[in-house]
Amino acid sequence: HIIHVCASTGCVSANSEKILTDLEAAIQERGLENEVFVMKVGCMGLCAAGPIVSIQPEGLLYGEMTPEDVPAILDSLDGEPIKEKLIDTNQPFFYRQEKNVLENTGQINPERIEDYIAQGGYSALLKALTDLSPNQVIKEVLDSGLRGRGGGGYPTGLKWSTVAKVGGDLKFVVCNADEGDPGAFMDRSILESDPHRVLEGMAIAAYAIGASQGVVYLRAEYPLAIKRLRTAIRQAEKMGLLGQNICNTPFSFKLDLRLGAGAFVCGEETALMQSVEGNRGMPRPRPPYPAQSGLWEHPTLINNVETFANVPNIISDGAAWFARIGTENSKGTKVFALTGKIKHTGLIEVPMGITLREIIFEIGGGIPNGRKFKAVQTGGPSGGCIPEECLDTPVDYESLKKLGSIMGSGGMIVMDESSNMIDMARFFMEFSRDESCGKCVPCRVGTTQLYEILGKFLDGTATEEDMTKLEELCDMVRNSSLCGLGQAAPNPIVSTLRYFRQEYLDKMKKEP
Ligand code: SF4
Repeated sequence: HIIHVCASTGCVSANSEKILTDLEAAIQERGLENEVFVMKVGCMGLCAAGPIVSIQPEGLLYGEMTPEDVPAILDSLDGEPIKEKLIDTNQPFFYRQEKNVLENTGQINPERIEDYIAQGGYSALLKALTDLSPNQVIKEVLDSGLRGRGGGGYPTGLKWSTVAKVGGDLKFVVCNADEGDPGAFMDRSILESDPHRVLEGMAIAAYAIGASQGVVYLRAEYPLAIKRLRTAIRQAEKMGLLGQNICNTPFSFKLDLRLGAGAFVCGEETALMQSVEGNRGMPRPRPPYPAQSGLWEHPTLINNVETFANVPNIISDGAAWFARIGTENSKGTKVFALTGKIKHTGLIEVPMGITLREIIFEIGGGIPNGRKFKAVQTGGPSGGCIPEECLDTPVDYESLKKLGSIMGSGGMIVMDESSNMIDMARFFMEFSRDESCGKCVPCRVGTTQLYEILGKFLDGTATEEDMTKLEELCDMVRNSSLCGLGQAAPNPIVSTLRYFRQEYLDKMKKEP
């Protein structure tokens, strides 16, 4: 038997490491070392039901395990499963997902490069280096239709080809792992559960665009991801998969880790580069774009974690395989973090084009405590809320935009009938206000004023004039802020005004 124990942040915070060490000790005590193996794995998806333990090859999944359950786990191996802890794996949460980026998470030990290689890891890099020219790699990525998973949705292949065409002796590849939206933990989970996939994607990108240096910009609040990424980089270097003359070819790629101090604005690429260079992370106007003048004024390619994690399978299985999944303009799968008032809080991966209703009610298990669904916020503080009547919308970049929200990086916060939409909008405005870097007036002052006006609505002291001001200010902040943080900050207000205007009207001061 092989016992998988989740060692991702969610389960670790619920004491899964103790389960792991107790299991190892109990196996020794019982003399079962040759029959039962314990394996540390990454996220298995159902984070709220952690700590999760799975038994292979039976495929049994247990939730809410404690160190006290260790004897029962071993007792049950050749007998009856522990019924009260068993999770039904024959439910949509499992069979409605389509795993590509997350195919290894929960299956391999993220701290062992051998496990990744055993699953076919690094074969895409080898294929790129030995069978394909840089232009052929770019063509595969272009033909696959992959778009940036960080939120913008810019075609990845197009970005790569732009940087590839720029001349220069030194180019950089940067992985944006500065995930900072409230409720989002996709990138953290990927890095904690399958770090080599991201490194492999970056190395392939570097080969394609002619870069020799790479940087992963990761927030310091993710200690486990940092530790696993450091281990992964060391292991890959030792095996000749990173560093000088990779796989005995002329291609060299050196990778470094840079830790961010947790400023949301550093997810914006020009601010990110400032931070990597050791300056205060503040956006600057574009052009010049990073492709022309990025890190230390060298051509730079920036993609996010999930984007790079998609690359190895595209190179291994081909652009046509990838392009078959999803919708006409949004190809492939997308990882989402389901949170809020939803039964199955956790991490999922679904094909683009699936509807929000399927995600929330089938995969997510619906709303707990018999309450009614009210709205779902996609895209975090830069996104918007989507009400019940729009739940049959397919998830793709354009459809979500039409609804007044965005795909974002993949945070999905579900609200039920008890949620106050003005309060929710104010929560996100408080976040944007606090995270505004202060460089430009519309964002610095505008977010503060928007926050204050929302407070008046919550107090019941808002007037007609406040409503006009609220709408005008949203327009102004949107249209005149320098970077995406400010430009998107009004979205939660604009979308709640669009779908839940009555809640604002009900809260306005009644004329005597
Ligand atoms: Fe800074 Fe906001 Fe201006 Fe962006 S929009 S540069 S975060 S003040």
